[in-house]
Amino acid sequence: MKARVLIIEDEREIGELISIYLQKEGIDCLLVETAEEGLKQLADKACELIVLDLNLPGIDGFEALGKIRKLTKVPVIIVSARKSDEDKILGLGLGADDFVTKPFSPKVLVARIRANLRRMNELEQVRKDGIIEFGDYYLDIEGYLLKHKGTRIPIPPREFDLLVFLVTNAGTTMTPEDIYRMVWGNKYGDVSTVAVHVQRLRKRIEGSSSEPRFIQTVHGFGYRFNEELIAKN
Ligand code: CA
Repeated sequence: MKARVLIIEDEREIGELISIYLQKEGIDCLLVETAEEGLKQLADKACELIVLDLNLPGIDGFEALGKIRKLTKVPVIIVSARKSDEDKILGLGLGADDFVTKPFSPKVLVARIRANLRRMNELEQVRKDGIIEFGDYYLDIEGYLLKHKGTRIPIPPREFDLLVFLVTNAGTTMTPEDIYRMVWGNKYGDVSTVAVHVQRLRKRIEGSSSEPRFIQTVHGFGYRFNEELIAKN
């Protein structure tokens, strides 16, 4: 299946240049000039990746990214002329996957897009199989099973769900609120329970919880499962 990329860029020439390069690579493009239009497209068309300009008329890229993340987990590559925007985006913990500074060479951007699509496909594959291996661990989502070097590790259901959520979102920082909403299934409640469960889960799988390898803390924002430790088939 052909991948489709949504490009949100108000400078027509730049947007068209990106489209031309991507189409040459066999990737479909959907080009829009405002975040509002982009969000509308996302609501009714599947896209595998989003290229997002930050400086846009109407709602800007920062606000758009927050809204996009509520709709989809696909990779978002930010393009911006200001280097300081990268720090801001990271600081806000909004979940951008990559950042390209303008002016950029279209070849560089296309290479980044391809790399992000490839990573997404790999993760997609493990999700489909329901089997994820990380470090010496083997996680069978359907079978509700966690093994370490072939030995079954007992794990309470909530910790198992938490682990599955973090692993299947590896590489993305999740706020305690996101985790609470998705794992506990509640919008309101005692979010501090997330930290308690993360500590327990770390104790179970990390060996030393003072230097977590798998579940990393992103200070001020939340937790991120280290995607580099997930085995790629
Ligand atoms: Ca712009």
